[in-house]
Amino acid sequence: MITWGENCSYKITSVCPYDIIKLFFFTKFLTMPKSIGCLSVLNDLYTSILGDKLYGKSRLKVEIDHGPTLVIHGGAGIITCKQFSLQNQEEYIDALKKSLMAGYKILLNGGNSIDVVEAAVRIMEDCPLFNAGKGSVFTISGKNELESSIMIGTSDHPAGASTLLHTVKNPITLAKTLLLDPENRHVFLGGVEAEEYAKKKGLGIVDPCYFWTKRRWKQHLEGLENGNKNLATDLNPYPKGTVGAVAVDKNGIIATATSTGGWNNKKDGRIGDTPLIACGTWADNETCGVSGTGDGEFFIRYGVAQDVSSRMRYLGESVNQAADGVVKNLGKVGGSGGVIALDKYGNVAMPFNTGGMYRGYIRVSDGIPYVYIF
Ligand code: ASP
Repeated sequence: MITWGENCSYKITSVCPYDIIKLFFFTKFLTMPKSIGCLSVLNDLYTSILGDKLYGKSRLKVEIDHGPTLVIHGGAGIITCKQFSLQNQEEYIDALKKSLMAGYKILLNGGNSIDVVEAAVRIMEDCPLFNAGKGSVFTISGKNELESSIMIGTSDHPAGASTLLHTVKNPITLAKTLLLDPENRHVFLGGVEAEEYAKKKGLGIVDPCYFWTKRRWKQHLEGLENGNKNLATDLNPYPKGTVGAVAVDKNGIIATATSTGGWNNKKDGRIGDTPLIACGTWADNETCGVSGTGDGEFFIRYGVAQDVSSRMRYLGESVNQAADGVVKNLGKVGGSGGVIALDKYGNVAMPFNTGGMYRGYIRVSDGIPYVYIF
């Protein structure tokens, strides 16, 4: 194990002759200034060129440990530069940075990844720009039905999820409370009973009109007028979406959180992928954490979030290869969307097959929030 800086290190797990070449280039690269995600991309490249193509399966595994990391998304959809004024873009960028900084503060102080992802998602739930919490879209009958899930990557797979919420201000906190409650035996709670539970636990409860926003109401009415021809497509060019976060803490524990208002003008009672463990949310310390956004029905039918993890586990793919492969396959079968994924070494993947995806990440090693839309 070789370390540089306070929070980064790399570990060489096996070496054989041809690996020396690989190692030579790799160590050369390490002397260059660090830049985002490059090391893991380079490692993938070496593995495919020197390992798979010339020598069969590579036996050299260079694990670069970036240390505690947080990655977030604020939804994927039909987002193009043309339709999106610079001022609007800045609003999203600021909101994403705020979310990253909320989680970063906890990571910096050595906090748990579950607290980090909750904090990051709560910021987005409270921000009307995103389709979750305050900014949730309406159902066909003009209600807001919110859903969420959270998971920790330890081997016992702790998880909590909630759906069909009308009065819980921060659905992600309800999911976390379910997960951590020693008296609760259930992973997934919905509707009136879930709201009663939230009330009993002293969580923030609001009048349903708290979730009313002018912009979402306009989208609702426009959808009704055009017969909801394409429910999966946000009529407003900006957000369709969901919000999510994945973090790895100093103990190598991964946690994932996802929260949504679902689709504009979805049928009342429709449950999407977001609260479904393995579809919209997954966490496994041995592989990765994943949070998804996009056509929920596809994410459910193809078990998207867990599929990323399975490719790493059974095919030996890196987090980048696995996430890219799953999102490409999703596109091939007609599903649009994206995922964020993070492994225990802090390697980040953020692929999408839509025009854009609000996304970003931050590492304790440099404390810089990197955010992107397109
Ligand atoms: N996946 C969400 C749902 O289907 C929507 C989205 O992320 O765009 O409810």
